[in-house]
Amino acid sequence: MIIAIDGPAASGKSTIAKEIAKRLNYKYLDTGAMYRALTWKVLKNEADFSDEMAIVEFVKDTKVYFEETIIGGKLIVKTYLDDDDVTEEIRLSEVSNHVSLVAKISAVREVMVKLQQELAINKNFVVEGRDIGTHVFPDADHKFFLTASTGERAKRRYLELKEKSHEVEASSVEHELISRDTIDSTRSASPLAKAPDAYVLDTTEKSIDEVVEEILKAIKGEN
Ligand code: C5P
Repeated sequence: MIIAIDGPAASGKSTIAKEIAKRLNYKYLDTGAMYRALTWKVLKNEADFSDEMAIVEFVKDTKVYFEETIIGGKLIVKTYLDDDDVTEEIRLSEVSNHVSLVAKISAVREVMVKLQQELAINKNFVVEGRDIGTHVFPDADHKFFLTASTGERAKRRYLELKEKSHEVEASSVEHELISRDTIDSTRSASPLAKAPDAYVLDTTEKSIDEVVEEILKAIKGEN
């Protein structure tokens, strides 16, 4: 069974998707981490982000995979790029500031989407991203689209980065989210969009537990 969770940047997808996967004993796929890992590779190689051909060459020669463990009751996922652990690096602001430029390239998406489908098809997976319910798994068994006000999303992301001791300013975090959402939702190749049959959940005033419970109830057909 595939559970698709889409939504804009910092709408709570990762936290919620990981908790749902843990509770249901499903695997978890963070498709954003795949685009971030590729972006990190482009940055490390000092390639030009406007050189789409060069980026497409990178994606053909890139291995991204994940390792899941449960520590202290929480699902912890490590991201590997060509066998290097890049879990921390892919959250750096340089990556956040460039990832949408990489993710809007259709030839990049073709490769990534195929990988995502191969990984999760016919298995029990919670898959989170931007185009899961619309494009990657249009026949997903359950589709959710999480939203939250821009201010709330920026606040959550700012606190999350601060907690990890990243040097950030609240205003630049908000600016980065808005800019990513604009590129992600206006690109021609599988943009960020709500599937017509997705269950929409505004998380602005809800706790993580409330959102998780609402999603689990919807999956069980109780609401
Ligand atoms: O989910 P996260 O915010 O980490 O995603 C990082 C970026 O990866 C997004 O802003 C978007 O550009 C890209 N992405 C995408 N399609 C997905 C998942 C993420 O284009 N399914």
